[in-house]
Amino acid sequence: MPSPDQHLPYRGRFAPSPTGPLHFGSLVAAVASYLQARSKDGQWVLRIEDLDPPRESPGAAGDIIQTLLQHGFEPSEPVLWQSERLKLYEAAVDELLARGIAYRCSCTRKELQARALPGRMGPIYPGTCRERTAHSGKSRSVRVRTDASPIEFSDALQGSNTCRLESEVGDYLIRRGDGLIAYHLAVVVDDHAQGITEVVRGTDLLDSTPAQIHLQQTLGLDTPDYMHIPVAVNRQGKKLSKQTGAVPVDSQKPATNLLSCLQFLRQDPPEGLESEPLQTIWDWAIGQWWPAQLAGHSNIATPAHFEQERRT
Ligand code: GLU
Repeated sequence: MPSPDQHLPYRGRFAPSPTGPLHFGSLVAAVASYLQARSKDGQWVLRIEDLDPPRESPGAAGDIIQTLLQHGFEPSEPVLWQSERLKLYEAAVDELLARGIAYRCSCTRKELQARALPGRMGPIYPGTCRERTAHSGKSRSVRVRTDASPIEFSDALQGSNTCRLESEVGDYLIRRGDGLIAYHLAVVVDDHAQGITEVVRGTDLLDSTPAQIHLQQTLGLDTPDYMHIPVAVNRQGKKLSKQTGAVPVDSQKPATNLLSCLQFLRQDPPEGLESEPLQTIWDWAIGQWWPAQLAGHSNIATPAHFEQERRT
């Protein structure tokens, strides 16, 4: 094991959930994570977070990978598929259950809605099943016990954050009632397994970070650095997604798309860069990458042509 003060080689990642084809908002996150890694002479890996089949669309994962390759992304390693790693996640759930840090929960959504107060990540779990040993119903939920001590971290763009998990988030799920592994657990296991030194992703996940740091600490894993970049929002100010009018990025226009991402990321690309070969665009962007321009911005408007006209 390297000692903590030894400088680890930079490893970044892009970790899309294959719920649909790549849209402008996800391309921006991919570009930012790639530029951050390459500007530090680091490695960049791609992880497909395919743990939630009901939310996934057939062919989306392959489509996302293909689109990234057409834009000139060069992953340092073969793609990691979360659906192939279920045993590892289950082992982490079992370990936390065995240590008494996690517990089974049989609360239904209805019961939670009736009792829980709203929190940073949805309803704050009121702790109903903490001491319960007998469980009725079919729920396979597992939650991690939180406490009052603050989780503190400093985000490269969004500044310092403090969260008291017990009162602001509550005991969070690591396995859902339907038996599926929850996002927090898989992300923490895999960021560690892939040796990720910095997580670059959208500000929509800023509020997920304290629970993930808590989980890292509980499992004895290192905490990576974090950089949460502004999310692309639609005309109504909602995060761009399939549901809010995102159109798939056109893989036939990689240079135009990359230029739009660079403008969104306030990198001020020079006139004419768009007509250069993809490699020249990437070389310019890596050489000039200056994310500090984004400090404090939690969202930025999506350029009009990446969004469908909506009447709502
Ligand atoms: N899979 C998540 C998403 O597509 C991102 C996970 C992460 O970057 O931590 O929203």
